Amino acid sequence: MNILGLYSQMPKFTAIMDIIRLLWIIRLVWAVEDVLMDSTTATAELGWTIYPSLGWEEVSGYDENMNTIRTYQVCNVFDANQNNWVRTKYIRRRGAQRIHVEMKFSVRDCSSIPKVPGSCKETFNLYYFESDSDTATKVYPAWMENPWVKVDTIAADESFSQVDLGGRVMKINTEVRSFGPVSRSGFYLAFQDYGACMSLIAVKVFYRKCPRIIRNGAIFQETLSGAESTSLVSARGTCVPNGEEVDVPIKLYCNGDGEWLVPIGRCVCKAGHESVDNGTMCKACPFGSFKASQGDQQCLQCPINSRTSSEGATSCVCRNGYYRTDSDPLQMPCTTVPSAPQRVISSVNETSLRLEWDVPKESGGREDVVYNIICKSCGSGRGACTRCGDNVQFVPRQLGLTEPRIHISDLLAHTQYTFEIQAVNGVSDQSPYSPQFTAVNITTNQAAPSAVSIMHQVSRAVDSITLSWSQPDQPNGVILDYELQYYEKNAVESNSSLLRSQTNTAVIRGLKSGTIYVFQVRARTVAGFGRFSGKMYFQTMTEEEYNSSLQEKLPLIIGSAAAGVVFLIAVVVLIIVCNRRGSDRTDSEYTDKLQHYTSGHMSPGMKIYIDPFTYEDPNEAVREFAKEIDVTCVKIEQVIGAGEFGEVCSGNLRLPGKREILVAIKTLKSGYTEKQRRDFLSEASIMGQFDHPNIIHLEGVVTKSTPVMIITEFMENGSLDSFLRQNDGQFTVIQLVGMLRGIAAGMKYLCDMNYVHRDLAARNILVNSNLVCKVSDFGLSRFLEDDTSDPTYTSALGGKIPIRWTAPEAIQYRKFTSSSDVWSYGIVMWEVMSYGERPYWDMSNQDVINAIEQDYRLPPPMDCPSALHQLMLDCWQKDRNNRPKFSQIVNTLDKMIRNPGSLKATTPLSSGVHLPLLDRSTPDFSSFSTVDEWLDAIKMSQYKENFANEDLTTFEAVSQMTMDDILRVGVTLAGHQKKILNSVQMMRAQMNQIQSVEV
Ligand code: AMP
Repeated sequence: MNILGLYSQMPKFTAIMDIIRLLWIIRLVWAVEDVLMDSTTATAELGWTIYPSLGWEEVSGYDENMNTIRTYQVCNVFDANQNNWVRTKYIRRRGAQRIHVEMKFSVRDCSSIPKVPGSCKETFNLYYFESDSDTATKVYPAWMENPWVKVDTIAADESFSQVDLGGRVMKINTEVRSFGPVSRSGFYLAFQDYGACMSLIAVKVFYRKCPRIIRNGAIFQETLSGAESTSLVSARGTCVPNGEEVDVPIKLYCNGDGEWLVPIGRCVCKAGHESVDNGTMCKACPFGSFKASQGDQQCLQCPINSRTSSEGATSCVCRNGYYRTDSDPLQMPCTTVPSAPQRVISSVNETSLRLEWDVPKESGGREDVVYNIICKSCGSGRGACTRCGDNVQFVPRQLGLTEPRIHISDLLAHTQYTFEIQAVNGVSDQSPYSPQFTAVNITTNQAAPSAVSIMHQVSRAVDSITLSWSQPDQPNGVILDYELQYYEKNAVESNSSLLRSQTNTAVIRGLKSGTIYVFQVRARTVAGFGRFSGKMYFQTMTEEEYNSSLQEKLPLIIGSAAAGVVFLIAVVVLIIVCNRRGSDRTDSEYTDKLQHYTSGHMSPGMKIYIDPFTYEDPNEAVREFAKEIDVTCVKIEQVIGAGEFGEVCSGNLRLPGKREILVAIKTLKSGYTEKQRRDFLSEASIMGQFDHPNIIHLEGVVTKSTPVMIITEFMENGSLDSFLRQNDGQFTVIQLVGMLRGIAAGMKYLCDMNYVHRDLAARNILVNSNLVCKVSDFGLSRFLEDDTSDPTYTSALGGKIPIRWTAPEAIQYRKFTSSSDVWSYGIVMWEVMSYGERPYWDMSNQDVINAIEQDYRLPPPMDCPSALHQLMLDCWQKDRNNRPKFSQIVNTLDKMIRNPGSLKATTPLSSGVHLPLLDRSTPDFSSFSTVDEWLDAIKMSQYKENFANEDLTTFEAVSQMTMDDILRVGVTLAGHQKKILNSVQMMRAQMNQIQSVEV
């Protein structure tokens, strides 16, 4: 029986094809399928292989467009033992791992066939066979399961049996079966019939893919599904343009059915972009709107007084004259500076003043308005006003007042002042204009000077005491003189004596030996006397003390240079005589150990340095010269170095009402003795007396908690010697001279203050980020203690001395003066110009002392302008009176900076690291006509014969000599070897110089 008769009537066939088409369309909507083979698209015979020949049969039909379709039929239901195979052509896999086969077929219902035998079937089998190429034949692969792999036995959901007048109603079954993994290049399918009456209408072979989609803000490209229906293939997404991943990388999984599952992570739109079209796009914020950060939020309209200049803004910029602080939120309107304070009321009381005012009319749109007070003193009314000094007191403070009132005291008497009350807010510092203010003029009343706060004993003798004191904090006018009242401690005050002094120093004579006296001093101006200072007690020397102090001095004097002995003894005798007579000499026992007080030439009120060790209680000096800082204002950040007493750290200091600043913090390590604490803090008491841009500035001390700290300004580039070594050759000569000028200016200031540094060296200069050099290291202990392990400081009579930096008179008899500081300054110049080279290289300290004694001096460093080397040589004059003063050095350097041409000329000596010392006593070799004369001049005449024997008779030959040659000549004494070698090197240098001049 032939089932094909079913399709010969076209209208019915068309209806079937419509159903088929509809089914395909529905599936396309939910899955992306790539078709590998579709029997309905065949335009000619399918030509599948049939076995046996009387089984399956290819039959044509038509679809609704009258296109031919090809089908296979079989209907051998009346013959037993059917085994009919039909095999497709070779189907290429095209990367798919799992294959789906959709079959449309109809099966005739066995029961509807009259007299059908029991062998009639309503099912068939589907097989596949993998192969790397199209190698199948009529007999290969064999027509049986294994080699074929069975996919399934397929049964019809519905078989057809009814017949109507127009023909049979045919039921189309659609079944899909899948198999995998497949790995060869391609495969065949086979359909096995074993006794059914059926028609294979269409076969479609396909695989599934997950489609390209945009999900969670990311694009996922089309992805092939895995080999098993359960397998998941992971795919990375890429954010849509202007989107950014949040947290984890964005991923999706493609399942075996071509569906995307398990989204992980997501993308959101960048700052300046917002999400549109259901999250499939990130669009730039339109003009006039902004989005500050990435995220799901939408763009916001620009706040008041701000605008954007382009699309995609991440913030809106403030309009001219409006600002925002770093902490203002971006959605907050831009704000402006406040107007001036209004209606100032002032009330003067002698030298104090109270100011009150109303808040500004315009706050600028902010709530953080505060007030600053600018104080200008205008003298008696004539001439320009100047800023008030540090003495004026402002309560609660001068800057950053939150309340509209202030109390100002310690003004000068009888003086005109102008106070400007500025209103500022969080954005004032961004405005190019000064804050708006309201000014008020006042004149203070007359007032007497304030009390002198501290008095020092400068020196004492058996019958006299020399005292000096500081000027009152508030002189309130020109100080005419001071009145000193004194009496014996055990006597009654009414018996006191009075003494007038034009200066802040006085010698009180005619005192009893070994007696304690009470002293009080007061200043006088045209307004009258100020209050007396507090009582201070000083004691004259006893005879025993006086004698033992003399004995202390003697070894020192005897130890000095022999040539000066007679002269010095004469001086000593003079000192003894003067002291006995209670002379007002200031060279008392303090002058050697400590500093000079040469107050005689000082103008009244001029500041001089006061040694903290002259205080009976050195803590008093700390209190007087160093501000106590509350430890809560200090934040230590990191350790930057090792000081003598403990670590040196960097950190921050925020004093109330002031900006936070970077500071260096020297700490005193735990377990210190009282003496160490005193020595440590002495540096602060010294530093605290100085105020100069080239002297390291003391911020204050922390002594009320541990660790005890000294807090100074922070110098970003650390100490000068290591800074130069790290930046070898990096600076211009002008930059180096600028550094030297700063150091000289700092030293001039110290010298004017009568302070002798004694340890001026590049290691004790600090450099800040602007290359400003500041003199530091005012510790005294290094010189006083003998147990310091630092080899830079050599034990000498009465203390330790940094030999290479110290003037000969200071090494020999401890004559430390500003002139010996000038010598050290010359060495610092040499260190700077040689970028941190060690002075005298690796020569021993004793060799350095000897060389200097023999008039050798350091040669110019490489590329060092001759003018600078000349200045160094001037600083190294043997006679300290011939050395320049620091003021002259500053002037000379200033001239060089103004006229850089003067720095062009250099001495071409500098060719190697180990340059010879300049022998200042050896005349130029060219002034001799023979080598013998030259040997005479360098005091090496004994080697004339040796030189002649070796044919060293011309300067040309001698200048080539090496150490080996000197040995060969027979010079065996080390000192002579060195002397000759140095002289030969000098000769060579002088020759080069001559040549270069000739060139
Ligand atoms: P000193 O005890 O003064 O010799 O300090 C030891 C080291 O700490 C110095 O060599 C510097 O490297 C560093 N140091 C000291 N004071 C400061 C400062 N004010 N700023 C930066 N570094 C400093």
